[in-house]
Amino acid sequence: MDTFAATELEQLDKRYLWHPFTQQQDWEAEPQIIVERAEGHYLIDVEGKRYLDGVSSLWVNVHGHRRPEINQAIVDQLNHVAHSTFLGLSHPPGIRLGQRLVDLAPGRLSRVFYSDTGAAAVEIALKMAFQYWQQCDRPQPGKTSFFSLRNAYHGDTVGAMSVGGMDVYRQTYRALLFPTHQARSTGIAPISDVERLIAEHAGELAAVIMEPMIQGAAGMLVYRPGYTRKVWEITREHGVLFIVDEVATGFGRTGTMFACEHEGIEPDLMAVGKGITGGYLPLAATLATEEIYRAFLGTVEEGRTFYHGHTYTGNPLACAAALASLDLFEQDRVLEQLQPKIDQLDRGLERISRLPIVGDVRQCGFMAGIELVKNKVTGAPFPLGERVAVQVIREARRRGVMIRPLGDVVVLMPPLSIYKEELDQLLSVVHDSIQMVGESVLQMDLA
Ligand code: PMP
Repeated sequence: MDTFAATELEQLDKRYLWHPFTQQQDWEAEPQIIVERAEGHYLIDVEGKRYLDGVSSLWVNVHGHRRPEINQAIVDQLNHVAHSTFLGLSHPPGIRLGQRLVDLAPGRLSRVFYSDTGAAAVEIALKMAFQYWQQCDRPQPGKTSFFSLRNAYHGDTVGAMSVGGMDVYRQTYRALLFPTHQARSTGIAPISDVERLIAEHAGELAAVIMEPMIQGAAGMLVYRPGYTRKVWEITREHGVLFIVDEVATGFGRTGTMFACEHEGIEPDLMAVGKGITGGYLPLAATLATEEIYRAFLGTVEEGRTFYHGHTYTGNPLACAAALASLDLFEQDRVLEQLQPKIDQLDRGLERISRLPIVGDVRQCGFMAGIELVKNKVTGAPFPLGERVAVQVIREARRRGVMIRPLGDVVVLMPPLSIYKEELDQLLSVVHDSIQMVGESVLQMDLA
């Protein structure tokens, strides 16, 4: 694309669009990258510059961009039907994908309810849990609230925000949110607090919801080993449903197909999204056990129907992409091939952790966060306005690597299929970018 056309596009973007999670005042004032196409693990902008996709296009890409197998599956489906509703009708890719997901799912999950974003999958799980207690064999109508963890992130719709625990995203909307139970501790709540709260409120708790193994959007906070399992066990003891949010962790991200597998957890409900289509099309799903499903059976007059659905629920193109992605998991032996790359990431992070402005590095499989701090000894953060991680991200972009921060945490989440040499490139660019920005901010402090 010539420079004139590229400039015009940027002007039009700034004139007409409003981007998610974006302070538009900054967006309008700064030069922006417009991605025109992609190839393998690289994004290519309108001027032809290539960037290694270091965060898998917001944690979704699994097998690389433009995989012929997924492209072909979508084209084949296009030649059948692009969209037909799932309300009162069904279609082959939706049915086949349902079976495949149940085969792969942890524990006794046996029913698949489709939607189109992670937040919707979470809302659906919350509504199912809530309604379950109204109409299960031994109804407990008082079980109407939820327990969730501080720093949790489950999406941006009102229900998903209500069970979220990150003040920065919630505080403006507080009056809109329904109250939930949460431990007051600032970090990850001690398990004793979780146990006490769940025990105290069991009679009113419909479910506990949590991200298994790692809190992603909170800045890649990894729980201690056994923590997720313990919370699950507490819910077993107290008759509370357990909802896992595998939107970020699902489909191989932590080294197993689902993060629940690390600790043998058997959830009652599971929300998935993001990587389900290999990062191609919007699709999400909520999986439920047969016991939950059965509580919704009855005549229409009995009012047990699950009244929820979205226009594009179970879109056939997205289901076809998801099936092709699951085929690739087998064909490419993705999880097996991933193990040495997880170790490589670990070694690269170890080197990065020695840099003067790196306070902590955290990793769970192929999810990693590098926390930047002003003082390595005390862990004191940089002032908010300094936007040090943004400076790192800009430097990395200049060097051909596309990453995105969460506050002052630099996130690394490469596609699972990334090649060894590309992972080396990602790690060394991130290392050098942090080093360079670190030298400049620490020098400014001395001046
Ligand atoms: N749950 C988790 C754990 C997530 O990380 C996210 C998104 N980052 C969501 C839910 C929301 O998904 P979506 O953006 O597709 O609504």
